[in-house]
Amino acid sequence: MKISFIGAGSMAEAMISGMLEKRIVKAGDIRAHNRTNKKRLRTLEQKYGIRAADGLDQLFEGPDAVILAVKPKDAPDVLESVRPLISPDTLLVSVAAGITIPFIENKIGRHIPVARAMPNTSAKVGLSATGIAFNIAATKQHRHRAFAIFSAVGMTTAVKEEQLDAVTGLSGSGPAYIYYIAEALQQSAAEIGLDAQTAKQFILQTIIGAAEMLKTSAEPPEALRKAVTSPNGTTEAAIRVLDEREVKQAFIDCVKAAAKRANELS
Ligand code: NAP
Repeated sequence: MKISFIGAGSMAEAMISGMLEKRIVKAGDIRAHNRTNKKRLRTLEQKYGIRAADGLDQLFEGPDAVILAVKPKDAPDVLESVRPLISPDTLLVSVAAGITIPFIENKIGRHIPVARAMPNTSAKVGLSATGIAFNIAATKQHRHRAFAIFSAVGMTTAVKEEQLDAVTGLSGSGPAYIYYIAEALQQSAAEIGLDAQTAKQFILQTIIGAAEMLKTSAEPPEALRKAVTSPNGTTEAAIRVLDEREVKQAFIDCVKAAAKRANELS
């Protein structure tokens, strides 16, 4: 595959590094372009062996996919410039949050295959949860291509475009919810007599262990929780506090707020 990136920021770098590590593309077949930050392009060139492109036109010299990885505010102008350059053989993949498929089609035409993806920041460590939707022009081959690209940075699932706001609320913003819990655990540790470094190790391993249990067990989360909650025990005392403070409902409301905001932004 030949892949071009419009915008060589942090999401582009996560994808470049993942794709090279999984060997789904050769470094020399990746081209990237930034509008102003040429220093960063040179850094990526040296670090990964990719090719920097001086202009947008160079990105469209026969790529299999062009990835739109600019901030949402910059996407309309970029799409305007892309219109005369893109051919129906090229898949346009957008990771720009809130930029819808109809908006993209309106800018570049409905005959161009388009994939709209919502990865999350864990792409940087190859563990993104990515939701992806396609337009009608995208064939089975284009879909396969998009899955290969995002599988390099984690797990990918196809959804309907209207479900991408829910994906944003759940997994797009999701890493922050886990960081928030980690923050609270870290603070609690200080108050019950554990130093920060020791606490960090316990918190990290607890999160990884619980995630692995959720992944490998056939039981739903509630059953796993009840299995570690003995009557009159420590976990029961802990969960009682969470229930009294309606923490579960707060998390439900938090995900809904993120999904609603994603919808407002699109
Ligand atoms: P970023 O680090 O700011 O990178 C954006 C890059 O686009 C910059 O290097 C910028 O460089 C370049 N750019 C801006 N305008 C351009 C133009 N007209 N032509 C070419 N390049 C241009 O942003 P990011 O975090 O990678 O996010 C990129 C997109 O990914 C966003 O739309 C975001 O919604 C989406 N996303 C990111 C994450 C994440 O975890 N980071 C998760 C999900 C989705 P210059 O200004 O120098 O041109």
